[in-house]
Amino acid sequence: MIDLTQLKTAKWQALQENYSEQLPKRLQMIHASWAQLQKEAGHVQAFDELYRQIHSLAGSAATFGYRQVSEQARLLEEYLSKFQDQTELESIDGAVITSSLGQLTALIEQGPDVSRLLEVAHHNLSVSRPTTERLIYIFGDDTPLADEIAKQFHYFGYEVLVFSTMEQAIGAVEKRPPAAMIVDIQLHEGPLVGTEFAKLLPGATSGHIPIVCISTRDDWAARLAAVRAGVLAYFIKPLEFPALVERLDLLLTQSQEEPYRILIVEDAELLAQHYAQVLTDVGMVTEVAIDPSTLLERISAFRPELILMDVYMPGCSGIEAVQVIRQKTNYDNVPIVFLSTENALKKQLSALRFGGDDFLEKPIDDDHLVAAVIIRAQRFRELRKLIVRDGLTGLLNHIELKLELERELARASRSAMPLAFVMLDIDHFKAVNDSYGHLVGDAVIKSLARFLSQRLRKSDIVGRYGGEEFAIVMPDMPIEQVEKIIDQIRLDFSQIPHAHDGYSFNVSFSAGIATVPPYPIDVDELINAADEAMYRAKQDGRNRVCLANASA
Ligand code: GH3
Ligand code: MG
Ligand code: MG
Ligand code: MG
Repeated sequence: MIDLTQLKTAKWQALQENYSEQLPKRLQMIHASWAQLQKEAGHVQAFDELYRQIHSLAGSAATFGYRQVSEQARLLEEYLSKFQDQTELESIDGAVITSSLGQLTALIEQGPDVSRLLEVAHHNLSVSRPTTERLIYIFGDDTPLADEIAKQFHYFGYEVLVFSTMEQAIGAVEKRPPAAMIVDIQLHEGPLVGTEFAKLLPGATSGHIPIVCISTRDDWAARLAAVRAGVLAYFIKPLEFPALVERLDLLLTQSQEEPYRILIVEDAELLAQHYAQVLTDVGMVTEVAIDPSTLLERISAFRPELILMDVYMPGCSGIEAVQVIRQKTNYDNVPIVFLSTENALKKQLSALRFGGDDFLEKPIDDDHLVAAVIIRAQRFRELRKLIVRDGLTGLLNHIELKLELERELARASRSAMPLAFVMLDIDHFKAVNDSYGHLVGDAVIKSLARFLSQRLRKSDIVGRYGGEEFAIVMPDMPIEQVEKIIDQIRLDFSQIPHAHDGYSFNVSFSAGIATVPPYPIDVDELINAADEAMYRAKQDGRNRVCLANASA
């Protein structure tokens, strides 16, 4: 068996040895540039070349065990930077350069400090820990770009930290694993060292921390290297920020998929517990119903994504129970799988005819049960997404949002907790379409959808209410806090630059909020109130949030 620990250390060492081997040649080229510059004082190209080489050395040597080389190179870089405007190249002090290069040569000849290297390498070996949900690390030496990415992600509610050296980045991953990492694959150290870095990240190969690459290279070799490093997405510079944000969102939500909810209807309690245990062991959430007469309430409260149904039960057969369930249209597409020792084909067929989806024969072995459940629950979830979600934004559609509002209102009335309903409409959206085209308009709608999902709590329900209109159900939150949060989201969204063809423009929205209390538990009344408040926000000049006035 391959020892992953050893493999990672070996990779690290190979990388380091590679660097050491290249160092003498690098040094030689630095000397050559300097010789050129001395021969022709004021030679701009030679200066640029020398400066780039020293900068690159300073940025990379420490990572591979040459800390002092980095420090020395940094000093020289600082000195050279004074001449960067290139007007006074003649006044470069040759003695400073010669002495500095002499020291660099001596330090390189000393070789790397391997103990430090091993320390860094060992950072990689510990097991992965849970990641921080909205924390993203950017590793790259293109600082302005990294800062720009950080800024963009910040708008979308991410915390972003930028690292320009491998040691820093790996140290940070160790201490506080991010939810994802963006790696610039072209760094000082060499053309593809970013992908080498990705390989070394703890959990990279296991997919524990999703890694996204950004690169100027669009060739097969670079892309292949990225794939082999376990990189999940590859973006070419200049970056399209919305696409990058969207991809990361997708990667992060995939890894946070909710577990499947499975309802087990079985009168033999021990057997029911066994099924429940088997499914729980693979990460699903289960509930057991022993008495079929409670089924409708159980389904409504638990909202299973699959029902395992025993056929022989006292009082009511599984086939009858399924017919009752199918009478309720809300539940007519939840998959139901019969479980029975019954193997007569006729009985099986009749079970299917009455609305079951499949027939599993008892005794069923655990793996088979898990596989059968996963396949059907997954398909159900995907289909359901298509039905209840809006195609452009992935948010709940109008009908589903209203259903959710009904459910949440019922819950609020039981729990006596407050509930807010927010309507939101993009300002002057027609102008966006007219100036930049419908596709750019779509992108703005998508970006607002993402923005809302990210900035709100998991318990808040966001839907696309119509074209450029959105609605939010916010349970259990005092009205002042709702207003504060929505207003902050409004302000932040209005500051996001939307890019188009080298231009960037800003878009705002207006929102209306209506809450229970003071409004009564009534879906239509609440929606109307929020709508009127939003209309008032428009009339008052747009880009603002208005509260519905219940006493008016
Ligand atoms: P106001 O500030 O008063 O809301 O101005 P507005 O221009 O946003 O208002 P209006 O409701 O008159 O215009 C909405 C526009 O949104 C009209 C429609 O063409 C456009 N729209 C609706 N759905 C979509 C969509 O899915 N994609 C795009 N690109 N545009 C859409
Ligand atoms: Mg039974
Ligand atoms: Mg509108
Ligand atoms: Mg509008």
